[in-house]
Amino acid sequence: MDEGMTHDALVAVINTAAHLIRHYQPPCQNRKLADKLMVAADALAAATAENEALRELLFLTHASEGHYLYGDDGEMQCNACGCDFKRDSPQQLNEKITRYSMAALAKESGR
Ligand SMILES: [Zn+2]
Repeated sequence: MDEGMTHDALVAVINTAAHLIRHYQPPCQNRKLADKLMVAADALAAATAENEALRELLFLTHASEGHYLYGDDGEMQCNACGCDFKRDSPQQLNEKITRYSMAALAKESGR
């Protein structure tokens, strides 16, 4: 896999390939590969749906004292720590929450 390919770009490539296979039957010698690609496209769609559900759950449970959620227009952001639950990677979310929490702790302790 191209290391620079985003998740959305990967989904687009696989979905385009699956679409082409559905509409233009591949020759017999490519049928096994086509079947594997269709299975991969279905697995990716299921993983994407699960990812979205978990992100929404994380967003909804993020609300707490000091964290103000913005959820208009399908967005899932926290105005306090800057987390974007739709677009940030898990590592970015972790870094933003940690940075915000450390700053809040320092402020509480008067540093
Ligand atoms: Zn927050």
